[in-house]
Amino acid sequence: MKVLVVNAGSSSLKYQVIEMDNEIAVASGIVEQIGSENSNIVYKHDDKKYEHNEIVADHITALQKVIALLCDKENGVLKDISEIKGIGHRVLHSGEDFTDSVLVDENVLKICKKNKVFGPLHMPANIGCIEACQNILPGVPNVAVFDTSFHLTMEKDAYMYAIPYEYYEKYKIRKYGFHGTSHKYVSEAVRDWLGAENCKKIITCHLGNGSSLAAIKDGKCIDTSMGLTPLEGLVMGTRSGDIDPAVVEFIATVKKVDVQEVLRILNKESGFFGICRESDCRRVCKLIDAGDEKAKLALDMFAHSIKKYIGSYFIELGGLDTLVFTGGIGENSDYCRKLILTGLECLGVDVDFDLNANMKRGIPTVISTEKSKVKVVVLPTNEELVIARDTVKFGNLK
Ligand code: AMP
Repeated sequence: MKVLVVNAGSSSLKYQVIEMDNEIAVASGIVEQIGSENSNIVYKHDDKKYEHNEIVADHITALQKVIALLCDKENGVLKDISEIKGIGHRVLHSGEDFTDSVLVDENVLKICKKNKVFGPLHMPANIGCIEACQNILPGVPNVAVFDTSFHLTMEKDAYMYAIPYEYYEKYKIRKYGFHGTSHKYVSEAVRDWLGAENCKKIITCHLGNGSSLAAIKDGKCIDTSMGLTPLEGLVMGTRSGDIDPAVVEFIATVKKVDVQEVLRILNKESGFFGICRESDCRRVCKLIDAGDEKAKLALDMFAHSIKKYIGSYFIELGGLDTLVFTGGIGENSDYCRKLILTGLECLGVDVDFDLNANMKRGIPTVISTEKSKVKVVVLPTNEELVIARDTVKFGNLK
């Protein structure tokens, strides 16, 4: 049985077709720069990759093009579109309404539309793709898998902001957290692998272009570093992470710009990029190799922000059994892992740094020593698989 996974960003659409009998992706790709003159369509299956430029006006057109590629007589992986038995959609924000994934009906769509306010760039694309699938593939169940749902188990003292209470009551302003599918996948995978009794207290570090940490007790999230939006928390590729909110007004005054512009700067021109003019971690590492001091500072700040969260989550969890690294940086950058892990000896962390540097990529690996009180694990994430599994479960697919 095949499931289509759709992950729509504000101007992109990532997709995968997953064969659920063996949970392997048989095709995948991305449509980028939707709505611009430079739209780009990538389609991959087996070892083949096809890529071409073509104007793609909107997400609905993007979906139509993807389906045409999947069903192409020569290079398609589907004989017919009826092979798709369910569609899983990554949806940015659940608000407080969905504590888990959900089969989409009219009421679910209505609530998602109400929650557009929490993600004005992403939510319209997510909703648009669901509605397009309802039209293009009538009768096929659509399941919404939210980036925030996994974190809705947080207690009130962890998720509330200390601002006037009525803002929570009236506008639902609070911490929500993101990357939920990734934190869920790696925390479940590590519990399956090492045994739930050895993983009662986990910290998951999803480190990529966007980065977040989650504290997970007995399988449930008790705290996470992102907030109402993905801007809060760690230093990231282009996001500032935590700053004094008064900085917003200060920048607006000295640069003579409005609040929206300051937020754009904090989201798009800050983080690694703000410090060293480079947002991609691999390129930041190259600059460091060439002796660039600001690049070194950017990653030192990144590691510093992660250590602070690890320390506070250690206290919140009442100890730590397992520390998991995932995401593009967490899985691949031994340099960043070393920066983060150095100095954690006080928590009982003892790392085999040779193994950290030489481990085989893409394979779950324990990089702590036998004597370490905390197991330190590198584990590839698979958000699409979480979405596909939930599509089978909530779409009642047999
Ligand atoms: P993601 O958002 O999870 O796809 O992660 C993307 C980030 O991972 C980018 O900043 C990449 O530069 C970074 N990344 C991927 N591979 C490596 C690597 N070998 N060393 C350092 N950073 C990497």
